[in-house]
Amino acid sequence: MRTLHLFCLLAVVFHWSAARAALIIASKGKSEYRIVIPADALPSEKYAAEELKTYLQKITGATLPVVTDATPGGKTEILLGNVGHLKASKRKVDFAALGEEGFVIRTEGSRLLIAGGRPRGTLYGVYTLLEEHLGVRWFTPEVEGVPQTNRLVLPRLDVSFSPKLLCRDVFWTEMMRNADFAARHRLNGQHYRLTEKHGGAYAVFFPFVHSFDSLIPKDLFKDHPEYFPWIDGKRVDGYVQRCLSNPEVVQLAKKNVRQWIKEHPEATIISVSQNDTGKWCQCEKCKALDDAEGSPAASMIKFVNTVAEDIEQDYPRLLIETLAYQYTRKPPKSIQPRANVIVRLCSIECCFAHSLAGCPSGENRRFRDDIVAWQPVAKRLYVWDYTPNFAHYVMPFPNFNVLQPNVQFFADHNVQGLFEQGNYNGGISADLGALRAYLLAKLVWDPKTDLQRHQREFIKAYYGKAAPKITEYLELVQQQVKDTSVHAHIFDPPRAKYLNAEFATAADKLLAEAEAMAESDAVRQRVQLARLPVWYVQIANDRVKDQARTDLVKRFLGIARAAGMTQVSEGMVLKDWAAKMGQP
Ligand SMILES: [Zn+2]
Ligand SMILES: [Zn+2]
Repeated sequence: MRTLHLFCLLAVVFHWSAARAALIIASKGKSEYRIVIPADALPSEKYAAEELKTYLQKITGATLPVVTDATPGGKTEILLGNVGHLKASKRKVDFAALGEEGFVIRTEGSRLLIAGGRPRGTLYGVYTLLEEHLGVRWFTPEVEGVPQTNRLVLPRLDVSFSPKLLCRDVFWTEMMRNADFAARHRLNGQHYRLTEKHGGAYAVFFPFVHSFDSLIPKDLFKDHPEYFPWIDGKRVDGYVQRCLSNPEVVQLAKKNVRQWIKEHPEATIISVSQNDTGKWCQCEKCKALDDAEGSPAASMIKFVNTVAEDIEQDYPRLLIETLAYQYTRKPPKSIQPRANVIVRLCSIECCFAHSLAGCPSGENRRFRDDIVAWQPVAKRLYVWDYTPNFAHYVMPFPNFNVLQPNVQFFADHNVQGLFEQGNYNGGISADLGALRAYLLAKLVWDPKTDLQRHQREFIKAYYGKAAPKITEYLELVQQQVKDTSVHAHIFDPPRAKYLNAEFATAADKLLAEAEAMAESDAVRQRVQLARLPVWYVQIANDRVKDQARTDLVKRFLGIARAAGMTQVSEGMVLKDWAAKMGQP
């Protein structure tokens, strides 16, 4: 683990706070403080104490003991959670109001209190203290920033926070390979393998998405073609939707959902969601409803509501999820999802060069119309958002400037859960994946965060001496889509206008300079990885030929494999791309 001495700002904070003589947590490697947890602490509260102890030790060199509230109270204490020592406190903590994740951080006399709702609030309060008030940074599982000081003085604090987005899922490989790391970023989706010590996950889906093939199995077509969609004069099988107005389909769906609930007691959300295709039913009955309601979402929501109503008495805490995706993205005129139904609206068609709110394209205008229409009717609105180029993971995707406005746009429209789909395949991502994952994690926790600061800090810590050139490269990428007539979509080809030859030449020059500036093997490898997207564009566009092309492909593969990259796109593994390029 690398420790960085990064933050000049922190020195100023220490100095300023010292003047107000608040809490002297540690001085010259020693501390009078101890960490107090409830005698009946949850695993996540015990872990919160361990994490706090570990980082206070890294910052100050002092080791604070951890005790339970069975021991008598003292003056110099850091109280974690609902400890008995709080009873004497004049200001009560309203734990019920903090929900599962909210917390307060405040100083009371010489004591520090970090108290959160169960199960994750206190742990999140500790991470917030460490990150926002003590300057600790978790850039990647391997690269962290921990300021060090001889004298740690904490200013008077009175902070209260509950995350606006209840379900926070950054679906990038770089965020999913270490559960402790994801927890430190206060992500609570289901893909991080969070355990009891992290307070578990907020939501566990079963199945995860596109569940129609398991709900109404394909092999029923032979005996029951009427369960399947009527398209162009006949019932159609294969990867298709289902005839949602057929009463037997509805009965079978109810039965299978109840079966899933029994088999998967860990699930908090059951997915009743369309397959990843069009091909919806246009039989007389389905079509009549959809036409009257102005959207095929009518048949879908009516069907999902019936399933949701069937389980709501028996499983009051369970939710049913469905998609508002492609052909179902527009809400029906009058049919509203029940209170236990989550609608997950998907932004797949949109331009990501410009913000959802600001891009003049028809795609983004229609998306805005749809989210505005869903907002008042869907009591539980989630969004499935897209953040790399899916047709070519290894290509510069110019969406850095929209990450924050888009997350804010979702939060402003009462979105409760945000799934940021990225390069989620096993290997590492070449298009600055570690930076993207970090920034998205900061945003879903607090959409109003100072993202520019996070970006500067990350680039400096991760790219070392090459940082200024990486920053220039990023600016160049964004410059390519400054013109609001040049849009960027997630399936753009290498010939996209913003990846023209002039750009690629300038970008490659900057990144070559960055590589030359790298001060260590680790930094050099990170910069080399960042060069691959530009080379990929050059190779795909036939801008390098003959021996130079063979050499570049070989160099590309050498770097990609050394870094652990496994995919060039959602659908193509690196090995197949190599074969296409005539390489082993
Ligand atoms: Zn039908
Ligand atoms: Zn645009």
